[in-house]
Amino acid sequence: MPPKKNKKSGKNGYWEFVLDCRNKHPNKQNMHEVQEYAARKWASMSKEERRPYEERALLAREMYSPARYTTDGIDIEVVERKERDEARKKQEMKDDITRTLKAAYFATDLDEKIFLVIHINHLAYYPTEDKYFICEIAIAAVSLKNGVEDVFHRIVKPGKLPLGYYGGALTHSKETHQMLELVQDEPYENNTREVFNEMTSFLKLWRGKGSDSIVYADEKTHEMITKVIDNFCQEFNYPDEIKVYNFQYLFFALRNSVAARTVWPTETYSSTELEKDLYSYTPDISCEFHEMSDISVYCSKSIVTRYCYTLCDHCCTDLNIQLVAGFHVPKNSRIAVDSSRTNSKAPSVCSTDDYRQAARSRVGSFSSTYDENYPALGSSRSSASSVVSFSSMRTPRNVGQPTKAATRIEQSFKAMSVRDHRNLNFPPKGYEKQNEK
Ligand SMILES: [Zn+2]
Repeated sequence: MPPKKNKKSGKNGYWEFVLDCRNKHPNKQNMHEVQEYAARKWASMSKEERRPYEERALLAREMYSPARYTTDGIDIEVVERKERDEARKKQEMKDDITRTLKAAYFATDLDEKIFLVIHINHLAYYPTEDKYFICEIAIAAVSLKNGVEDVFHRIVKPGKLPLGYYGGALTHSKETHQMLELVQDEPYENNTREVFNEMTSFLKLWRGKGSDSIVYADEKTHEMITKVIDNFCQEFNYPDEIKVYNFQYLFFALRNSVAARTVWPTETYSSTELEKDLYSYTPDISCEFHEMSDISVYCSKSIVTRYCYTLCDHCCTDLNIQLVAGFHVPKNSRIAVDSSRTNSKAPSVCSTDDYRQAARSRVGSFSSTYDENYPALGSSRSSASSVVSFSSMRTPRNVGQPTKAATRIEQSFKAMSVRDHRNLNFPPKGYEKQNEK
């Protein structure tokens, strides 16, 4: 039997099928005959066979339904759906970051957990292909224990810009990174595949266990970077997923998970701290090109490094990790040692300890080769053309006797679970214990 006619919309899959039959039927004029044929045929059709008609009907209903529009002429329903999608994605991202921190906490290696911070400079957005033409990329690998462990940096030559996009790119370039002329010269080389391959090798090296890579991007560039990475993955058939998460949220959640005393009540605190950009004039952390052009503030390499410094600056002391100049903070920083929080017998040290006998013996073997003056990010080491320096900075620095860092982490998480259940929902065990006291 044909389905009942949907009076409200007037369009359903069956109706689309009848129209189709009429067009193909040898006796088009006889609508009665057509309908009879269609009804019989429809009844015998499988779900799969009916699907194209159902889909066509759905499309027709959407097209003819009275839609509301924004002042820009965009369907409100589309806008709302997009907003819902974005909100859902954002929540998923937050949950995932929280889970990651929690897992690291239970594995007692939160201080060694590597976070990958990314920044990309672009020339222009090309809407026809929904893609960005980019010119510079940098990813820093940072852990609270060792600070900036490594930085991947590459100047990207994206091929010739499409006609009509040079002017916009020139304006953007002049106001920011000034790289247009550098990457847009004859014969308009395209090294994106090469850069992508090197970047994924770097990610694989640092992502640890698990198959997905997560990179953290500033919320202002988050959308652009997500698009760039997604396009790359598609274009070069990359089999794994690279997730781009919000660095501000990571900073907020990580800071709150280690904060023993003051927890940030809202995410805006992390944004505000990053906006201060205290390390914006740090020498020797940008690429050769930007260092020479004296505009290092816009250099991707410098930006990711500064983000890492800010992160360390706010998260290390609560874990009793002594900041090391050139790794946690800029090279020539004067670091105050808080004696009240540091064990005088084993100062300036954090190794989260009692749990990791094995790790400690490994550390012991490294310590003999430890080089006090190991340059973390010196431009002499990683010039613009010299790509990657990965694994060069793996030598542990915070080597020595364990302190009470583990206890501190535990306390911080307990405090956190009391004060901010919503953000980091840790098991209530620690909380109960604390209450018993
Ligand atoms: Zn640069």
